[in-house]
Amino acid sequence: MRICIVGAGIAGCHAAFDLAADHDVTVLDRVGIAAEATGYSAGLVAPTQYYPDRPAIARHANGFFADFDGSHGFEFTERDRLDVVTEAEAETVRSTADELADAGFPVDYLAADEIPDRYPRIRPDGFAGAVRYGDTGWVDPYTYATALKAAAEADGATFEVGVEVENVRLGRTDDHAARTDDHVIRTDDGRYEADAVVLAAGWRTRSLLPGDLEVPIRPYRTQCVVLEPETPLGDSTPTGRIGSEHLYFRPEHNGDLLIGGAHDTIADPRAASTDADESFTLEVAGFAPTFFEGFDDAGLLNGWAGVDTASPDTRPIIDSPVGAPDSLVVATGFNGLGVMTSPVVGPTVRQRLTGEPAPFPAETFAADRFDDVGTDFEYVSTSEV
Ligand SMILES: Cc1cc2nc3c(=O)[nH]c(=O)nc-3n(C[C@H](O)[C@H](O)[C@H](O)COP(=O)(O)OP(=O)(O)OC[C@H]3O[C@@H](n4cnc5c(N)ncnc54)[C@H](O)[C@@H]3O)c2cc1C
Repeated sequence: MRICIVGAGIAGCHAAFDLAADHDVTVLDRVGIAAEATGYSAGLVAPTQYYPDRPAIARHANGFFADFDGSHGFEFTERDRLDVVTEAEAETVRSTADELADAGFPVDYLAADEIPDRYPRIRPDGFAGAVRYGDTGWVDPYTYATALKAAAEADGATFEVGVEVENVRLGRTDDHAARTDDHVIRTDDGRYEADAVVLAAGWRTRSLLPGDLEVPIRPYRTQCVVLEPETPLGDSTPTGRIGSEHLYFRPEHNGDLLIGGAHDTIADPRAASTDADESFTLEVAGFAPTFFEGFDDAGLLNGWAGVDTASPDTRPIIDSPVGAPDSLVVATGFNGLGVMTSPVVGPTVRQRLTGEPAPFPAETFAADRFDDVGTDFEYVSTSEV
């Protein structure tokens, strides 16, 4: 099958990686590899935390990162993760932790006073404790995308960057005027023909859908800041999330600290600044010394912002839009978790296009799970799930 993938972010690269061995795959991107949300990502990996209700999905994603480690320059840095909770949140997360532990995941609950013994740079004053995940870590998102690209190219895929897709016209399936069965992908520089199209164009995916097809996605902006502590963080420093503060964190390889957060829906993603806002930087500067040891005189190194794509239930849509032929699939709506969720993209796209079963319940990503395909749904940040 000739498959054209639009977008070389992590979703498009992962689809290419899984399809290239037995299909004729071309990936088109208007800018470059990992040029948008993927390149701005903090690279945190914690599928077990976000898919406790779908253990097969968490296991598949965790297994992928472990297996792909060392391929084409890709490195998965394993590091514990703490989901830090308030007294009000503790009961619910403790029961989820117990269920995950019973299902064989390396997850347990630590009371606040147990945390500094294990992680000396964390001061969880005012918090009840944290769920500790032991199958988590982080990746460099750009290297991850380019490693998937290299693997896909080794299997025969072609990547063309600087090519902007303007529209997609379906073949005979829905357009009686079409002269062939091919889907036609029209770009700023010509046209491509394909038997199947995968739209992995982030928040722009919606505008590329032909005819009156729709999927419920909307753009939002989110930010990161990097701080240099008085003394570098050591190898035992975990990654983590503090949901009540809408913040997450991870150490850098050199002992600096990345803190991310600030999820805001935006009306005009094209005009969104890629700089961190002063208000977010001040929020992080105020919070860090209260939670991390050795940050009273921390330096601000840099900060940035990127635009990602939300869906109504915080999980991606990897499927043919309702009313579309099976040969048109979208992979979008990753809600700030697209790097860690990316291992599901390839198998789910394969299932949609070829019928080959995915090794997890791919209906989680079905397009028809939403009654309303509009864009005015209430945005839910993944710091709240
Ligand atoms: C600041 C920040 C921090 C994040 N931290 C994490 C994290 O720690 N862990 C995690 O798992 N996720 C994180 N994410 C989320 C993650 O980065 C995204 O969910 C993921 O990268 C989305 O990948 P994508 O391929 O769907 O989209 P993108 O990476 O945006 O890729 C879409 C691609 O499509 C191309 N494109 C668009 N329109 C066209 C067109 N018309 N023609 C051709 N090409 C087109 C674009 O150029 C782009 O390269 C973060 C995101 C941000 C912004």
